[in-house]
Amino acid sequence: MIQATGLHKFFGDRHVLKDVNFAVRKQEVVALIGPSGSGKSTLIRCLNGLERYSQGEIVIDGNRLYPDLPIKQLSQIRRELGMVFQNFNLFPHMTVLQNIIEAPMLVRRIPKAQAVDLAEQLLAKVGLLEKRDVYPNRLSGGQKQRVAIARALAMQPRALLFDEPTSALDPELVGEVLKVMRDLAAEGMTMVVVTHEMQFARDVSSRVVFIADGAIIEQGEPHEFFRQPQQERTQLFLERVL
Ligand code: ATP
Ligand code: MG
Repeated sequence: MIQATGLHKFFGDRHVLKDVNFAVRKQEVVALIGPSGSGKSTLIRCLNGLERYSQGEIVIDGNRLYPDLPIKQLSQIRRELGMVFQNFNLFPHMTVLQNIIEAPMLVRRIPKAQAVDLAEQLLAKVGLLEKRDVYPNRLSGGQKQRVAIARALAMQPRALLFDEPTSALDPELVGEVLKVMRDLAAEGMTMVVVTHEMQFARDVSSRVVFIADGAIIEQGEPHEFFRQPQQERTQLFLERVL
């Protein structure tokens, strides 16, 4: 459902993605790992059109995502892929509920009553229904991230892209967010997760992709990947992080 072929990205003369071929099938959970600066964020930002790629091809569910697509068509493709960021990016001046219903009403033109209904279901799912009417500054980091996940789900995306969703959290709050992600994976949600949580990658993902210096070095089934990485580069990385 997501297919990037021969993808290149330059920032000025800096070559940040180098001939990346990356595909995600329906219901796959792909863990994207690699050193800082290797291009993980850039890759997933290109996938949902937040960043324009320089060369190659991206096809989302049969729709080609041209780098120069007019904003209207771009947003149509983009809304099929929910995005969850490291720093939550909730709207601070809106309550939890308003944060969740805003985009479905505005972009999907869902009537308010229906949007509220869905938002409440999603808040219950992430265990935060009682926070419905509070503002984000009254929430812990873990709670903010769970609201951000509910907000992404409210757009009924075909897949969710996560960029280090637990990296900004105090260690004791990581688990509650990973649990929500685990539940989503178990329900068959298609997910791409940039993460430093190797445990999560091992236990929850269906495939691990290791990227270094803008190129995919190695990928595989998680248990196999962690037990017996084939490339020296992967081995060195795993020695440092495990
Ligand atoms: P991290 O684990 O630290 O988040 P990453 O793997 O997500 O790293 P990217 O953020 O994708 O890495 O960055 C890849 C490279 O592109 C880095 O060298 C970074 O400095 C560069 N880069 C990223 N965004 C920009 C930008 N807007 N302008 C110029 N260079 C950028
Ligand atoms: Mg990053």
